[in-house]
Amino acid sequence: MLLKPEEYIERLGEYKRDIYVLGKKIEDFVNHPNIRPTVEAMAYTYSIAEKYAPHSELVGEKVNRLNYVNQTFEDLIARYDYQRELSLKLATCNYRCTGCDAINAIYPATKALDEREGTDYHRRFLELLKEIQKKDYACTAALTDVKGDRGKRPSEQKDKYLRVVEKREDGIVVRGAKICQSGAFAADVNFVLPTQTFRPGEEEFAVVFAAMPEDEGIKYILQNTGIQAKQREGGKFEAGNKYGDRTTCMVVFDDVFIPWERVFVFEDLKAARDVVSYFAPSHRCVGAACKAGFIDSMAGAASLMLKTSGLENVSALQQKVAEMVAVSEGAFAISVGAAVKGANHNGCWLPNFQMANSGKVIGVEGFAKALMNLIDISGGIIGTSPSEFDLEMVGDFLRASEKFTAEQRLKIVKFIEFWTTSSHLVGAFHGGGSPTAALITLRFLMDLSSREEAVKNCIDF
Ligand SMILES: Cc1cc2nc3c(=O)[nH]c(=O)nc-3n(C[C@H](O)[C@H](O)[C@H](O)COP(=O)(O)OP(=O)(O)OC[C@H]3O[C@@H](n4cnc5c(N)ncnc54)[C@H](O)[C@@H]3O)c2cc1C
Repeated sequence: MLLKPEEYIERLGEYKRDIYVLGKKIEDFVNHPNIRPTVEAMAYTYSIAEKYAPHSELVGEKVNRLNYVNQTFEDLIARYDYQRELSLKLATCNYRCTGCDAINAIYPATKALDEREGTDYHRRFLELLKEIQKKDYACTAALTDVKGDRGKRPSEQKDKYLRVVEKREDGIVVRGAKICQSGAFAADVNFVLPTQTFRPGEEEFAVVFAAMPEDEGIKYILQNTGIQAKQREGGKFEAGNKYGDRTTCMVVFDDVFIPWERVFVFEDLKAARDVVSYFAPSHRCVGAACKAGFIDSMAGAASLMLKTSGLENVSALQQKVAEMVAVSEGAFAISVGAAVKGANHNGCWLPNFQMANSGKVIGVEGFAKALMNLIDISGGIIGTSPSEFDLEMVGDFLRASEKFTAEQRLKIVKFIEFWTTSSHLVGAFHGGGSPTAALITLRFLMDLSSREEAVKNCIDF
């Protein structure tokens, strides 16, 4: 089934959630100024879903592309088209991509696990997936543990990693905290996955499950960055983008009971490794398509900025916009190429792992370059402008090209201020793991010897 945006918001409003902003529990979270923009961004995914919706054999109807197990490279390309459009139209996170990556990681991993161990985790997962597809749930994924001292193993600092603290007949009890969680407070289902692989003796951390609104003991503590402060100040456009910053939270699991039906990996180190190994390339590859959409948005903003400043005929600056479009198309091309060169893993089509990791590295470099060009084009005003509340006093001074009002110019300025000062650059870097993490993976995957051999041949080495 495909839900309407307002149906998603209505359902969300029925959930009882412990959400904290600035140390205080909030009421009516759906309408809170720091949360509503995320809700609107997620709602937007529903408004254009029809265009990309595949038919699901599992439930016998059209479902949201973000809740679908990809079967072919065409499926992946359709997902990347959807992602790019969302990133362009929202200029922020759509929040559901991690959920899609989790679905496309848990599916092949549980299938392999059941074939190896004769368990029934895959059946359990399919039952939940059916519900997700039928009810068009918005899904997110929580991997990142707080991790403490990065030089120590989880077993040396148990409180820093989410773990199973009790095994019962009807389920498990989990304890710990996930950090930097995009949009989890506004999702229907939050998949919980390990942040890394584990060694023998660390089985208590090797757990994968789905957290649902009825689970008790979950607390969401919202991020507080500059954009959040602006959102609380109010105004029509002061915060830059009506869909908000990339809003994340910490999710604290305070001895939360999870029934077996929603547990998909338990104490199995190989399966936990599989889930992480499938999630990472899936997320890094869609990340390149996402960066393409973000850079598209920045290119649009750059072009409008040139016009409002009266600089649209300066060819050196137009060249900077063309460079932005070049890196956007390049990042997207990596996603498409990785989809085509991908492979079937236990019934799920995943992108080519080397290309996916390269997409992460190149996508971030492209994003950073696009930001530099945007800043160059826009001038110092994007880091120094007065607020929209000062417009009456300063409007005449701020106006540039006569073709635009002072308010129009300030809107563009605030939008670019949002791009350059919000958590987007950090998010581009670290979402799905840092470029360094992608390079570490690439060093395992890459074949240098055939490259060396080719060189030796050229020089009769
Ligand atoms: C805006 C934003 C949104 C996010 N959304 C989500 C989300 O929805 N879900 C989710 O699960 N996560 C999310 N993340 C988290 C993201 O995946 C992590 O930030 C990322 O994996 C890096 O982990 P870290 O922040 O703990 O960095 P750190 O672990 O502190 O890493 C810092 C640097 O050190 C390197 N490093 C760390 N440990 C080691 C080691 N032992 N050996 C060698 N190198 C090491 C890292 O690669 C990195 O370069 C989000 C992050 C951001 C910024």
